[in-house]
Amino acid sequence: MELPFAESYRIKMVAPIKKSTREQREQWLKEAKNNLFNLKSDQVFIDLLTDSGTGAMSEQQWAAMMLGDESYAGASSYYNLKNAIKNILGFEHFIPTHQGRAAENVLFSVLVEEGDVVPGNSHFDTTKGHIEFRKATAVDCTIDEAFHTELEYPFKGNVDLNKLEKVFAENDASKIKFIIVTITNNTSGGQPVSMQNIKEVSAFAKKKGVMLVMDSARFAENAYFIKTREKGYENKTIKEIVAEMYTYADAMTMSSKKDAIVNMGGFIAMRSKDLFDKAAVFNIMFEGFLTYGGMSGRDMNALAQGLDEGTEFETLESRIKQVEYLGNKLIEWSIPVQRPIGGHAVFIDADKVFPNIPKTEFRAQTLALELYLEAGIRGVEIGAILADRDPVTRENRFGGLEFVRLAIPRRTYTNNHMDVIAAAIKNVFDRRNEITKGVKIVKEAPIMRHFTVELERL
Ligand SMILES: *Cc1c(COP(=O)(O)O)cnc(C)c1O
Repeated sequence: MELPFAESYRIKMVAPIKKSTREQREQWLKEAKNNLFNLKSDQVFIDLLTDSGTGAMSEQQWAAMMLGDESYAGASSYYNLKNAIKNILGFEHFIPTHQGRAAENVLFSVLVEEGDVVPGNSHFDTTKGHIEFRKATAVDCTIDEAFHTELEYPFKGNVDLNKLEKVFAENDASKIKFIIVTITNNTSGGQPVSMQNIKEVSAFAKKKGVMLVMDSARFAENAYFIKTREKGYENKTIKEIVAEMYTYADAMTMSSKKDAIVNMGGFIAMRSKDLFDKAAVFNIMFEGFLTYGGMSGRDMNALAQGLDEGTEFETLESRIKQVEYLGNKLIEWSIPVQRPIGGHAVFIDADKVFPNIPKTEFRAQTLALELYLEAGIRGVEIGAILADRDPVTRENRFGGLEFVRLAIPRRTYTNNHMDVIAAAIKNVFDRRNEITKGVKIVKEAPIMRHFTVELERL
């Protein structure tokens, strides 16, 4: 008999989580103005809001924390992290920041000016936010396959080179300074970008004389998918694939709270000393001195260790197979999800669950609320609320996908939890025709409104 798959770790420390009643959840949701970000964590049974900073660190990471050097300048922890970045990612220069969006803030302070155009593959919300905040435009050049959720395609994160060419044809060359490729493509469903596509985009960028920046939160999951799906990479290690991916990049921004499995941290890495010098000025202003940049020494030590562990095949296999386990259950029950299942999350297609609710009533948010009411499970809307208003017309952007993302924290929940999640979704799905009304916005911020939006259930 073939042995089933099991995780390549055992559990050493646990934290209790609380169940609640439907009546309690109804009350809490009302108090939270129907925004799941407003819930207290103990009002949530299984928390799939994000896999960012919510993973369980290893014993080696905790041990490394005890050796953190908290010197303001020149700490050994900084050099540990510098070495890890050089050895694993291949970049000579790096700047620590407190998390991924801080890396964007610092780098874009150098690279993005008013009127600029930044093409890429489904820019992450904070990335788009930092571009639009500077009165520049993010243009999504993701391949069309990504928008057909039930179409099986191995690299739905890929950049469409024709769309890229069009952006360059339609805009003044001086307005485009770099292309940003997000690996994996979070917004399109945690979908990977192939090595072939990375190579082609890199060659294109070189031809046009612009930089290629990689938004790298889930770079290791991307490498796992290259290993398991792309011809010629089956026998390479994750570290070999990662090293090759970055030979094509000029710079990277990193949220370390994902694949580097720490609770807080980020960085920018780059080849150019000139870019380093320019970004350094902003880092000192916004984040901290260059040898800590918003992180404590112990955080940098845990991150250095996390980069090493996070690029081991066994770590990635345990994680991605758990996400697949949940996703496959939903597929079995014909619940519409982005396919194939992505690296960090299952994305439910709310347009297909609730075709009877008008799009203007935010289908994905409605589904996320229903799932919380059903079982105390907190997912997140990746749809029209997150898409924000168009910065010029101020109209809602209803054109995109309506997902509920169930992000699975690393090494945190068991497959029993996955079974509960799947059953809860099935229960909501089975009574989908009884749900015909969504939500309306009562109050919203001018940018990145999803974090603080207030909603009313119709
Ligand atoms: C999380 C994330 C960011 C932002 O990082 P934070 O650490 O949350 O600030 C940027 N890009 C991608 C693809 C991400 O997933």
